[in-house]
Amino acid sequence: MESEFTTSDDIFHCTQCGECCSGFGGTYVDEADVKRIADFVNCDTGTFMARYCDRSGTRLVLTQGDDGCCIFFDKNCTIHPVKPYMCRAWPFLRTIVKNPENWSAMSRACEGMKPDAPEDALKKIVAREVAKLDATYPSTSSD
Ligand code: SF4
Ligand code: SF4
Repeated sequence: MESEFTTSDDIFHCTQCGECCSGFGGTYVDEADVKRIADFVNCDTGTFMARYCDRSGTRLVLTQGDDGCCIFFDKNCTIHPVKPYMCRAWPFLRTIVKNPENWSAMSRACEGMKPDAPEDALKKIVAREVAKLDATYPSTSSD
């Protein structure tokens, strides 16, 4: 029998709750993101990183404001056309293809994700969504 989970809509539907812009776990940015967003806000990449990014281990994340939200959140995403790859991809992150068990943990922070989606279906659906996004919105990160 064919799985009831075959498309991205079967495992995720965004409710627009806004929680993902409230800073859970941080929003990672890679080199391509930094270049795109710096151009969008009219500054060079060095200034952008100093003003709008923090370090999380070896990686860069967008700074959070005093309210705990992403620095670019103001009712909506103020950099929507160039928002980071991670925001555009969510929740179809490359890491899920290798580690589908992470889906369930992620779903605790995102009410739109179906926490009980089976791992074999997750791997197939997420791989397909990652390939689609990579074809149009390049990332320089392997995560
Ligand atoms: S937390 Fe999930 S459901 Fe809520 S806005 Fe973000 S992606 Fe959509
Ligand atoms: S960049 Fe935009 S979509 Fe991503 S966390 Fe910030 S406000 Fe939300």
